Amino acid sequence: MSYDIQKIRSWFPVLSQQVFNKPLVYFDNAASTQKPVQVLNALQKLHNEFYGNIHRAAHYMADKTTLEFEAVRDKVKDFINAGSREEIIFTKGTTESANLVAASYGEQFLTRGSEIIVSEMEHHSNIVPWQLVALNKGAKIVKLPVSESGELQTGLLPELINSKTRLISVTHVSNVLGTINPIKQIIETAHVRNIPVFIDGAQAVQHIPVDVQELDADFYAFSAHKMYGPNGVGVLYGKKKWLEQLPPYQGGGEMISEVTFEKTTFSEIPFKFEAGTPNITGVAAFGAAIDLLQEIGLDNISAWEHDLLEYATSRLKGINGLKIFGEAPKKSGVISFLIDEIHPFDIGALLDKMGVAVRTGHHCADPLMKFYNIPGTIRASFGIYNTKDEIDLFMDSLKRAKELLN
Ligand code: PMP
Repeated sequence: MSYDIQKIRSWFPVLSQQVFNKPLVYFDNAASTQKPVQVLNALQKLHNEFYGNIHRAAHYMADKTTLEFEAVRDKVKDFINAGSREEIIFTKGTTESANLVAASYGEQFLTRGSEIIVSEMEHHSNIVPWQLVALNKGAKIVKLPVSESGELQTGLLPELINSKTRLISVTHVSNVLGTINPIKQIIETAHVRNIPVFIDGAQAVQHIPVDVQELDADFYAFSAHKMYGPNGVGVLYGKKKWLEQLPPYQGGGEMISEVTFEKTTFSEIPFKFEAGTPNITGVAAFGAAIDLLQEIGLDNISAWEHDLLEYATSRLKGINGLKIFGEAPKKSGVISFLIDEIHPFDIGALLDKMGVAVRTGHHCADPLMKFYNIPGTIRASFGIYNTKDEIDLFMDSLKRAKELLN
């Protein structure tokens, strides 16, 4: 298919507004994406037509809602090519998915002295949950280091893995550097030693095709709000063989089979991990976001965003004193940079007044900032609706900001 950018932009009316009397340029997609009319309509439809609480339904409204909710589980399964629908657990987001695995896997498999390998480029949400469980269990976090170019030093893995290693946790795509990590290779290396791998896919599934069976991932997590879907919805994919062995993460309604004061038995997967009333309408509307991504096609999205990345990178490199962090050969549409000694917040604030939304700061990746010895970066991140014209506006604004601050 040719990439119909006008059609795609027409799905996002929010993009055509002016901010501070300037056309909005939204380059903060790695933080969260805008929502298309398809998702907004789906949210409204559910509330207008048949809203009810799901599962154990005793009436029409609840039945219809349950069907709508469970249909999205099948959509997610197909979207990442999971082996079965039971392997798809709905959570609040990537953060909750990581906490779920850390807590449950940690409870079951970590003992004093166990080691978990975590990469140095992780978002805090894929570091802190492991630290919490490690503290509790007397386990240790081992760092998989990055290199200056922003790539994981995967060659060190055979040295880092030992008989105490219980899990490896790594992001598919870095939210700061844009690096697309060689996770298939990491998973292969881990599996030779029967070590499971948790993949943080928060910055991947909306940009590149993901097939969890082909990757042989044990766990894979992502967030709907970064995929043009509603916020408060996330996914944890887990291989059946793991999910069946793990204890529940939270207790409550839906996740039980039978409760007495003496003993409780639990539901089968995935419900064992879905305690309480979930974000029903959010999950239902997430289905519309997945449809939209599939209508455009992940290969097309990937090619479009790669083109934007190359264009923006070459234009940015023309600015004197600008340094890009993250120059891996395989990158998604994320560019982090600094200009001279100017503080990123100052540039971000000026860009904002010129209608350009970027993210500034540590991007919830403090260890990576420490590695580069910087306080933070300015980050531009692209989505399906961004254009080269917007990159031109961004460049004009950036040059003006630089002049003002120098
Ligand atoms: N991991 C990565 C790589 C991310 O970029 C983010 C969001 N910035 C998260 C995890 C956390 O996602 P959420 O806040 O949706 O739980």
